[in-house]
Amino acid sequence: MRLANLDDVMTLAAKYPGRCATCGYPFAVGAPIDWDRTTRASRHAACVPEFAARATQQAQTVAASRATGADVEIPAPEGLAYLPLQRAGIVFCLDRFGKGGDASPSRGGAALIADEMG
Ligand SMILES: [Zn+2]
Repeated sequence: MRLANLDDVMTLAAKYPGRCATCGYPFAVGAPIDWDRTTRASRHAACVPEFAARATQQAQTVAASRATGADVEIPAPEGLAYLPLQRAGIVFCLDRFGKGGDASPSRGGAALIADEMG
C-alpha cells in the first residue's frame, strides 16, 4: 500500500466534472476537490465515509434489482408457477418493501415490476 505524500495532494476547485475516487459520487465544475497529482485521482474535499457506504449500498440494491432468478418456492395457483425472473422480482420486493424492509410503503417506498411485451 502506498501512502499519500501530503505534498502530492492539492485542494482546488474542479476544472471539469468528475467522480470521486472514494465514494463514486459525481462532483461538478467548481466543487472543492482533493487532487492527487501522483495518481491523478480526484476526491471530494469533504468526502465522508458515509458517502462511500451509501454508494456501495445503492450499487448492491441495483444489482439485486437486476437478478434474473431466485431459488425460493413461492406459492402459486395450482398448475401454475412463477418464472425465475418473476420469483426474483417478488424476492426483491419482499426484502426491500416487506415488513421490516428499509423502503416499506410506510416509509414512502414503492416498486414497479415490468417486463418487455411479447
Ligand atoms: Zn466522495
